Amino acid sequence: MRALVFYGPNQLELAEVPVPELGPGDILVKVAACLICGTDLRIFRGKKTKGVRTPSILGHEFAGTVVAAGPDVGEFRPGDRVGVAPVIPCHTCAYCKKGRENVCANRTALGYEYEGAFAEYVRIPAAAVHGGNVYRLPADLPFEAAALAEPLACCVNGQRNSQIGLGDAVVILGAGPIGLMHLALAKAAGAGRVIVSEPNDQRRSMALELGADLVVNPEVEDLNGVVKNATDRLGADAVILAIGIPALAEQALTLVRKGGSVNFFAGFSVGDAASMDVNLIHYNELKITGTSAARREDYGLALRLIGKGLVDAGRIVTHRYPLDRGWEAFKLAESGQGIKVAIIP
Ligand SMILES: [Zn+2]
Ligand SMILES: [Zn+2]
Repeated sequence: MRALVFYGPNQLELAEVPVPELGPGDILVKVAACLICGTDLRIFRGKKTKGVRTPSILGHEFAGTVVAAGPDVGEFRPGDRVGVAPVIPCHTCAYCKKGRENVCANRTALGYEYEGAFAEYVRIPAAAVHGGNVYRLPADLPFEAAALAEPLACCVNGQRNSQIGLGDAVVILGAGPIGLMHLALAKAAGAGRVIVSEPNDQRRSMALELGADLVVNPEVEDLNGVVKNATDRLGADAVILAIGIPALAEQALTLVRKGGSVNFFAGFSVGDAASMDVNLIHYNELKITGTSAARREDYGLALRLIGKGLVDAGRIVTHRYPLDRGWEAFKLAESGQGIKVAIIP
């Protein structure tokens, strides 16, 4: 089969590799769509190394059709359309027992420890099949939309940490796919006012079209001033950092009101550090949280929300490339010209 193989930083090549062999309990999925994640881009540029093997096949936001099942697979049959939550928890560590399987101490994931879906076929290991990571898709849900369930599930997890309530003022920094999905979820959660800060013109207008109450170009406008004016000088109830820029982590603390929350949703590049006025956290009683991946229940919820049209996948996925133009697809995703880029094997 053909696959996009990651050989190391800046080395991504189309290669002919064997179709994965199935063990007991495994299933083989023919990939219909696999989306490029910001994390894939950081891996591609060598800015994320944890859990990354070389050579390996990346790609964890995908959906497709079951084409083969190993012995012992009762639940899934060839022809089933499925989406897969890529994080496979161990179910037994202290975190899993506490309901925090997304940060499982022994976690493995498709597209990291297991080969991912920038390929014609992907093997779903028995641990994922038996563990409930595989979701059957509604017949009318397009594969591309289903593939969006993974990043949306991570946003669902982030929103849980942000605890956005009815009428809240929310600031989202960054209007890439993640920022736009946070916007949709914040509105659905009852946020009274969502302010999106984003330097890219096209992304700002997309944020407006998707329901932002206010958009700000932080390169020409004073974001702090805009937020203060829009919130009776108080600041936001919640700030979500949807882009991993250390200076913004610092600024986020100044955008939020006393008792407000800041969620560091986006990952940073390895070695990044930010200096911040820690007294802002202390005196203002801020709640600072992070977000790491998603739980299976978040994935299931994300699929249902996409099915209900809460997130318009047709607008978020703006570009499609075949496997043999994978390099081009990665470059485009990196350029910020599109929103979400799909590889269609
Ligand atoms: Zn992702
Ligand atoms: Zn665990």
